[in-house]
Amino acid sequence: MFRTHTCGELRSSHCGNTVTLSGWVQRVRDKGTLIWIDLRDRYGITQLFLEEGKTEPVLIDLARSLGREFVISATGMVTERESKNPNIPTGEIELRVTAMKLLNASKLPPFTIEDKSDGGDELRMKYRYLDLRRNPLKHNLELRHRLALETRKYLDDQKFYEIETPYLIKSTPEGARDFVVPSRMNPGEFYALPQSPQTFKQILMVAGYDRYFQIVRCFRDEDLRADRQPEFTQIDCEMAFVEQEDVLNTFEGLARFLFKQVKGIEVGSFGRMDYATAMKRYGSDKPDIRFGMEFVEINEQAKGKGFGVFDEAELVVGINAQGCSEFTRKQLDALTDFVKKPQIGAKGLVYVRYNTDGSLKSSVDKFYNEHQLKEIAECFGAQPGDLMLILSGNTDLVRKQLCELRLELGNQLGMRDPQVFKPLWVTDFPLLEWNEDAGRYFAMHHPFTSPKIEDVHLLDSDPGKVRANAYDMVINGVEVGGGSIRIHDRGLQKRMFSLLGFSDEEAQNQFGFLLTAFEYGAPPHGGIALGFDRLTALIAGYDSIRDFIAFPKNNSGRDTMIDSPSEIAQHQLDELFLKVTAQKTGQ
Ligand code: ASP
Repeated sequence: MFRTHTCGELRSSHCGNTVTLSGWVQRVRDKGTLIWIDLRDRYGITQLFLEEGKTEPVLIDLARSLGREFVISATGMVTERESKNPNIPTGEIELRVTAMKLLNASKLPPFTIEDKSDGGDELRMKYRYLDLRRNPLKHNLELRHRLALETRKYLDDQKFYEIETPYLIKSTPEGARDFVVPSRMNPGEFYALPQSPQTFKQILMVAGYDRYFQIVRCFRDEDLRADRQPEFTQIDCEMAFVEQEDVLNTFEGLARFLFKQVKGIEVGSFGRMDYATAMKRYGSDKPDIRFGMEFVEINEQAKGKGFGVFDEAELVVGINAQGCSEFTRKQLDALTDFVKKPQIGAKGLVYVRYNTDGSLKSSVDKFYNEHQLKEIAECFGAQPGDLMLILSGNTDLVRKQLCELRLELGNQLGMRDPQVFKPLWVTDFPLLEWNEDAGRYFAMHHPFTSPKIEDVHLLDSDPGKVRANAYDMVINGVEVGGGSIRIHDRGLQKRMFSLLGFSDEEAQNQFGFLLTAFEYGAPPHGGIALGFDRLTALIAGYDSIRDFIAFPKNNSGRDTMIDSPSEIAQHQLDELFLKVTAQKTGQ
């Protein structure tokens, strides 16, 4: 028998019992006649003890030959420790070894298997199995497991069925780029891996399944931006006979249930904000509402005073950093440099200090007298001690820039505590967005999202103004997921395809199956998908999703452990009727 207990289990109540443990050697301490071994498994660490003269000499020799990460099993009597370790649950006891077996040796690991490892990212990815032995990763994967389990419990309780949809599907030109898979049996033809099970879950509604979910892998061949994975997991859901409100309530319920079950936190009911308001007040469709610092538009007060930059701007807008009037020159310069970074792209930053003595001082004093500055301060609701930071320019751009500045200040002022959770729904997204390069509209969510009934009349005259029955779940400035009420009318769906520039023939080719299904009694339906990796990271209080995925890809989309992607043999290419013309550029 390899073990009677795990390495995390034994307490002083077990003293006197003879037990067997198996695990990895964390470390060996050899103090001459006394030897201690820390033995580790998934459940914890237990101390083994051997003593020259009392323990059999072969066992002493074996103990001395052990290195880090050797796999052993040990039998012995549980005894109370002389010096207890209050930091670990098994810290009261140790095992007096009477038998020990080497199960497997280990090479010296290239980094330490400790909570804080000395390994760089690259090394840890290549030896992922060693990295996964560390506690932080173990905790992350445990959390992920628990969240998946609780999700299934909640959705089962709400009468959802978990139904699998295929991974080998059909490439479509909308959305992100597809990963494709050549079909050997159908020369010259390709499957695509799903970017999401969108059309299948809608078909399931037509089929009458009413409530569907799946914790499902999705694939998008995008250029990797920071913290994106080419394959990621969604909690994907669809419901029939629902309005937007039903979907929001069901999934607000799921999120609250998860926070409660897994974190013991009541997140309370979600705020609601429409897209237009979110953009105006936070410059973002995923506002972080853990802190205020809302945008204040001051066109009226700022323009017409001779300051050309403001006069020419479409929008003059700022935020009030409460209690920051005493920011030093250096701090202000750093904020100016921050907004001028190429990724943000502002030309400059204007500040108005509301000094604690009630006087006002700005970086544009030449153009604004004290009275006019006071008027500006009033717009911000500023008090003595506050600092107003103002940007100007094209409305969309300046909002994006100010959004970045607000988040940066939020970080600097410690207003973004990762253990505080402020969720909200952002609703009423635009249906379409104009793409300058393509010279056409694209669906902001996807082509199956329904327009708001009251905006349908704008579809031909002013499509950019049409709002959608689309919504995002946003927590702490992170888009956790999104969905929509779908089009279920064939005519409207065809109209939508044509707005997106599909000819009738293309629409039929790409989505004929859906249009046909809509002719056989499609019920009103809608749904949502939540990013499962991201939700897990967020609940744990982390930004990065990589350490919440057992085997992630690196920033170049590679799995360095298995060394993939990789070339395939000529005979495989021949079988697939493929010719490789691209040359490996090397790295
Ligand atoms: N399929 C959508 C997505 O992956 C979510 C949805 O509309 O349900 O973003």
